[in-house]
Amino acid sequence: EKTTLISKLKETIINVPDFPIEGIQFKDITPIFLNPKLYEEVIEDLANFSRGKVDAVVGIESRGYLFGIGIAIALDVPFILIRKKGKLPPPFVSEKYDLEYGTSEIEMREGQIKPGQKILIHDDLLATGGTTEAASRLVEKQGAIVSQFSFLIGLKDLEGQKKLEQFGAEIYEVLQ
Ligand code: AMP
Repeated sequence: EKTTLISKLKETIINVPDFPIEGIQFKDITPIFLNPKLYEEVIEDLANFSRGKVDAVVGIESRGYLFGIGIAIALDVPFILIRKKGKLPPPFVSEKYDLEYGTSEIEMREGQIKPGQKILIHDDLLATGGTTEAASRLVEKQGAIVSQFSFLIGLKDLEGQKKLEQFGAEIYEVLQ
């Protein structure tokens, strides 16, 4: 049941203050993977949100892969990786985005997303939403539809959610 899942996750995820820099409350989700039953419950919860609603799952490097692949298998739909620049061989499509200092770039293998497909974009955590926004542009650029976003954790008082409103997709966070 949902309330027990949330309390189990709150006991399991470790909050690390001032990592990797001062002022950041880092959420360490690695203890979830010590508990296969808890992992299964998280996947079930995330898969329930997306069941029957998407044609493929896009996961953002790297912690977005951990649950994204599980969701895709549970839904029996393709899983597509978004990687940081320089990791994928050509042909790939890419999208640049702004960071607090400088810019970054993400890439996806060309042709893995089909035009018209309804896409779930998944990551472990939503903070500013900058990464997910770039991922959404990369999906739309290929003629697919961003239908849903899901995250294990939502941070930052809805700042990220506001940034994602432009895509008109449903948003789900297992916990805030
Ligand atoms: P953003 O683009 O600001 O929404 O950042 C989201 C990405 O950064 C996710 O892939 C997270 O894994 C990572 N991230 C941002 N803030 C945190 C945090 N406080 N704890 C753990 N990971 C974080």
